[in-house]
Amino acid sequence: MAIREIREIGDEILTKRSKEVKEMTPRVQTLIEDMIDTMYKSGGVGLAAVQVGVLKRIVVIDCSEDGDELHVLINPKIVETSGEQTGQEGCLSVPGKSGEVTRPNYAKVVFLDENMQPAELEGTELLARAICHECDHLDGKLYVDLVEGDLVDVNTEN
Ligand SMILES: [Zn+2]
Repeated sequence: MAIREIREIGDEILTKRSKEVKEMTPRVQTLIEDMIDTMYKSGGVGLAAVQVGVLKRIVVIDCSEDGDELHVLINPKIVETSGEQTGQEGCLSVPGKSGEVTRPNYAKVVFLDENMQPAELEGTELLARAICHECDHLDGKLYVDLVEGDLVDVNTEN
């Protein structure tokens, strides 16, 4: 278990497309464990592997208050969306900022779980937002390009 350094906006790697995971290896397993630790330590609700400098299609998400609804998504693909929500969004790679982004209010994603078995997840509201945000990272996209209006400063509590 280890905390990895989070790459920040301006780092070219964040604009690159991540590659599919072909097989589960001890190295990939360690990466996932480190991503989980890094997300919780940083107080984020989601993290993509590229944010710790690894171009693999892996995201971890936990939108719950208590940090007990962890989702690990390998090679995620959004297959359905509906509705619309507009709200403040932030990113661990864009520290101290947030901006208003419109996203689907519902998203369904198919992926492989940690045993490389097919799985799916449906989310609404914050979870739908997180699914869309994290999947965008895998295609080299940051939310700042979707912001309506200006990025604003947010108070960080550390
Ligand atoms: Zn992000």
